[in-house]
Amino acid sequence: MKSGFSFEINKTVEGGLGRAGTISTPHGEIATPAFIPVGTKASVKSVLPGSMKELGAQALLANAYHLYLQPGPDVIDEAGGLAQFMNWQGPTFTDSGGFQVLSLGVGFKKVLAMDSKTFRSDQVIAGNKERLAHVDDDGVTFKSHLDGSMHRFTSEISMQIQHKIGADIIFAFDECTTLHNTRPYQELALERTHDWAIRCLDEHKRLTDVRSDKPNQALFGVIQGAQYEDLRKEAAADLGSMQSSGIGFDGFGIGGALDKDSLGTIVGWVNSVLPENKPKHLLGIGAPEDLFVGVENGIDTFDCVLASRIARTSAVYTMTGRFNVSNAPYVRDFNPIDDECDCYTCANYTRAYLCHLFRGKEMVAATLATIHNERFVVRLVDRMRQAIIDGDFKEMKDEFLGRYKHKSGQSRD
Ligand SMILES: [Zn+2]
Repeated sequence: MKSGFSFEINKTVEGGLGRAGTISTPHGEIATPAFIPVGTKASVKSVLPGSMKELGAQALLANAYHLYLQPGPDVIDEAGGLAQFMNWQGPTFTDSGGFQVLSLGVGFKKVLAMDSKTFRSDQVIAGNKERLAHVDDDGVTFKSHLDGSMHRFTSEISMQIQHKIGADIIFAFDECTTLHNTRPYQELALERTHDWAIRCLDEHKRLTDVRSDKPNQALFGVIQGAQYEDLRKEAAADLGSMQSSGIGFDGFGIGGALDKDSLGTIVGWVNSVLPENKPKHLLGIGAPEDLFVGVENGIDTFDCVLASRIARTSAVYTMTGRFNVSNAPYVRDFNPIDDECDCYTCANYTRAYLCHLFRGKEMVAATLATIHNERFVVRLVDRMRQAIIDGDFKEMKDEFLGRYKHKSGQSRD
């Protein structure tokens, strides 16, 4: 058996689920908790990998659905895997593609709902858009958002794609539901996710053996169950102890429908049941206030497109909240975005210059704003880690949230 993946807990928060740890992968270590910036198509939009490294990103997460459609997993395999292909010196993750085939590019509104029997189509499907994904017990058939061609993902296909892409941490194929699905549908989706999880373990084991010359990849199971305590805990107990082909999951992702108000509760349910010694990843969550909720409930890694997506619209984070640097008050503001920030943008440029770049539609506006926002979020989670080690996480959290005025946001890409 190949080695190369491990997780160690360095310190825990007294009386809670929070912890600081270290994930080791064939491409390097990740000190946790950590924020993992998203490079959906093997690129963090507008920022070079070297700059991501410089701003403190420890790992990057790409998406199997997008890379499957373009350039295709064979190209990335031939290039030597995701990290080599994109010239990223460090660990990588890939999302299974399940969320994307069930939501993005398939014509749904913001909510996901796959049970056509219990929903009128106009409640679920965005106007003028054709429904482009169909789920059955074996997998999902969907239409490419790029050219309309038909494709099918199953557990086996998702594992084959993710093995070729070659990220250090990959995710099991799951059925992602929404808060709007009925309770019976959530139960059905959990049964499917259970069956698909076993099939992912089997195929992952087979591919690991067949491709024994490649770096070892760790497989994370994904916990669904929406807002139901019994379903979430049942799924956590099931996947937490699941073994097939002689292996279990190396870690876990928490996915699916999570509304802001119940985020901590749901993550707490799941993490109080999952094995303590395995790393836990919260999928698609990245607003500063939500990162605290995740960390105190035992999350080790996060990914989210929010920081880079809002940066491209000129929204930037500061210690007191976010603002739009292209707005009128900043035309002659010669201060950095945030005078407490240590990023390249804040060290070298003013709000006035960024305001000018955004108003002039200069491409480098997105680059400079993204560097700042990604640094802000990466550093915030790094500070949480340090606070856990120093034993003052709660004080650090209260101090940050006392100053920070938040806006909501959950974002996967
Ligand atoms: Zn900055």
